[in-house]
Amino acid sequence: MSRRPRTDAAIEARVEALAAQVRAEAVERPGVYRMHTADGEVLYVGKAKKLRTRLLSYFRAEWPKEKGARIIREAATLTWEYVPTEFAALLHELRLIKRFRPRMNVAMKRDARHFAFVRLSHTNAPRFHVVRSPGADERGVFYGPFIGALRLEEALRALNDALGLRDCRLDQRMHFADQPELLTLAPRTPGCIRHEIGTCLGPCAGGTTESRYHTRVVLARDFLEGRSEHPLTPLRAEMEEASAALAYERAAALRDRLQRLEGLRDQFRRLRFAVEALSFPYHLSGHGGEDRVYLIHRGRVRGEFAAPRSATEQSAIDAAWARITDPTAVHDGTVPAHEIDELQLVSAWFAKHPQQLPEIASTAA
Ligand code: SF4
Repeated sequence: MSRRPRTDAAIEARVEALAAQVRAEAVERPGVYRMHTADGEVLYVGKAKKLRTRLLSYFRAEWPKEKGARIIREAATLTWEYVPTEFAALLHELRLIKRFRPRMNVAMKRDARHFAFVRLSHTNAPRFHVVRSPGADERGVFYGPFIGALRLEEALRALNDALGLRDCRLDQRMHFADQPELLTLAPRTPGCIRHEIGTCLGPCAGGTTESRYHTRVVLARDFLEGRSEHPLTPLRAEMEEASAALAYERAAALRDRLQRLEGLRDQFRRLRFAVEALSFPYHLSGHGGEDRVYLIHRGRVRGEFAAPRSATEQSAIDAAWARITDPTAVHDGTVPAHEIDELQLVSAWFAKHPQQLPEIASTAA
């Protein structure tokens, strides 16, 4: 049962006690804070470059209009920890949000909002679609991040059309031509017009075998991972044929589709380059001389060290970096779902602070 004070006076008294705690103890430096309910639930996690100022702002927020006032009135206790840098605060905040999933944190907010990913579903007839984040279901394969969800959706539609891949609801029932029970059933009607107009193989209506469909999925993955331009070749040939036959309308439609695919290929190219460029030991001056080195590899933080003060400490960092950047490891452009938020955070950080990229990375990004 909740032990939260029920009266306004009790709430005001508790908020005033929290304010007094902040005024007495909080220091002006980077930090991460948590607000808890009386039952110990983590209600909210936040970060600040200037922790004291940020915490005091909660007590100036206007009730009930401002979110800060609503959060502080629900909180029974407030705790915080200091970190050396603003970057460390962002990272730590993200990891705490992922761990506690506080109900008053809006999922993956701020700078990450303009990123999008391509997800390949784990279903028996896999589907490529655009997502903002993995959401609750982290299964499947993710590519990204991309900027411009709408353009990405258009390009993906062109890829699906070119390879005959489905784009219908994830729970659409599939009936492959080689499914044993299909042989004894009446022919099925496709779930949409795409099979009829030749832009989907029709796995919902026995229009293709499972292995043929999967071969097309592999082609699409090769294309997205930059290993093949297969979908472009037949489109180019078709466009030239239509032009030669003076079928200009069809040639123009094919040209548009081709351009969208080329755009998608270029976006993926840029993406691979940008993510690969986000690989370097990142030296940051910390509060009060607590300087740090973050080992950033492919847009994710793989290690964190105090800035070295001796050759031995530098050797430890060099050894960790060599392990992380193993040149024999193969990267296919996919991102594990649980690393997406961190990749978004690191990409957004360097998009906002491009001057902090080392020279090679900044020219590549
Ligand atoms: S034809 Fe069938 S499988 Fe293809 S998109 Fe339409 S409903 Fe989905």
